[in-house]
Amino acid sequence: MDRFIYADNAATTRIYPEVLEKMMPFLTEQYGNPSSLYSFGQNARQAIDEARDTVAECMNCRFDEVFFTSGGSEADNWAIRMTAEALAKKGKKHIVSSVFEHHAVLHTLKALEKQGFEITLLPVYENGLVRVEDVRNAIRPDTSLVTIMFANNEIGTIQPIPEIGAVCREKGVLFHTDAVQAVGHIPVDFAGMNIDMLSMSAHKFHGPKGVGALLIRRGLRFPSLIEGGAQEKGRRAGTENTAGIVGLAHALKMTCSEMEKITPSLIERRDRLINGLLERVERSRLNGDPVKRLPGNLNISFEGVEGESLLLLLDDKGICASSGSACTSGSLDPSHVLLSIGLPHAIAHGSLRLTISGDTTDEDVDTLLEVIPPIINRLRSFSPVWEKITKGEHYE
Ligand SMILES: *Cc1c(COP(=O)(O)O)cnc(C)c1O
Repeated sequence: MDRFIYADNAATTRIYPEVLEKMMPFLTEQYGNPSSLYSFGQNARQAIDEARDTVAECMNCRFDEVFFTSGGSEADNWAIRMTAEALAKKGKKHIVSSVFEHHAVLHTLKALEKQGFEITLLPVYENGLVRVEDVRNAIRPDTSLVTIMFANNEIGTIQPIPEIGAVCREKGVLFHTDAVQAVGHIPVDFAGMNIDMLSMSAHKFHGPKGVGALLIRRGLRFPSLIEGGAQEKGRRAGTENTAGIVGLAHALKMTCSEMEKITPSLIERRDRLINGLLERVERSRLNGDPVKRLPGNLNISFEGVEGESLLLLLDDKGICASSGSACTSGSLDPSHVLLSIGLPHAIAHGSLRLTISGDTTDEDVDTLLEVIPPIINRLRSFSPVWEKITKGEHYE
């Protein structure tokens, strides 16, 4: 395809060639097991140690607070399950979270609920933000954990993480944040933001898939999720993914050091897209706070449009995007995130998420602004829902 625009960076990102280059030796000649005592294995051990130091430096945490995992989902599962299990022994069986978390968090909580834990899911308001006061009010004497995502993967809103963390500290409750969408995109400071546990995933910041990390504050001792060998100080078994770990660290280093430079132009392009689409397409709206949002995220609902048809027509034009319909699950339910901010089903179905990156050019933005509005008009021209809207009739 000659014209190809990748605008789905919240789903995954392009691996940087420099990252792959750092990984290659550990996928080829340097295949030694890091747990082996001979120096051939110790080369891999040293690479992992260096990667841990890099992560610690970029995240402002200590090297012994970094635990490598198979990705964001494992880190979320581990943080929540291990806290739940450990603190249930002390009679604390209540967990606070929010309605618009990633399924890695929500489904873990659902499983715990079936095992007798009590879960409070806080609401998200129209702007896509959790209120700190709601967190405070939800904490009870038997609360073990608060888990609130740093930035939402669909609407890009950034939560008041240091403030939520401060309330948790004050109340003596542990605080985990799923920072998978935030790390590498906005400043995240583990030690400075009152966070006890933090999940990240390399493929969301130009690293390889299948590797992530859970940061666990020093002194917290919890059960393992994966049992087996003594890797990761006996807390996460399995022969280390040396190449992946090296790739994660290098991608983190690269994205964190380029962040300051690329963020202003990213925000400019994002806002040009938002304003351009809202201007060109009637009955459209931006989902989520316009300012407290990830630099690369825009999520817009178009009334009278079906999200999946929109994606197919965009694909025809070489544009990769995402919608508010949960097509992956095969269900017709619109996304729980869009419903959580109060969108009616019909409007949530007609949502488009574009997540741009440092690769996105001004020319790409021009193309998107040229291509999307006529597609919306075309879809509306044969939409019975749109006909009702234009006649002022009620629809749902
Ligand atoms: C992608 C994502 C995950 C899952 O991460 P994987 O590494 O793909 O398992 C978890 N939480 C959020 C917010 C995400 O965007």
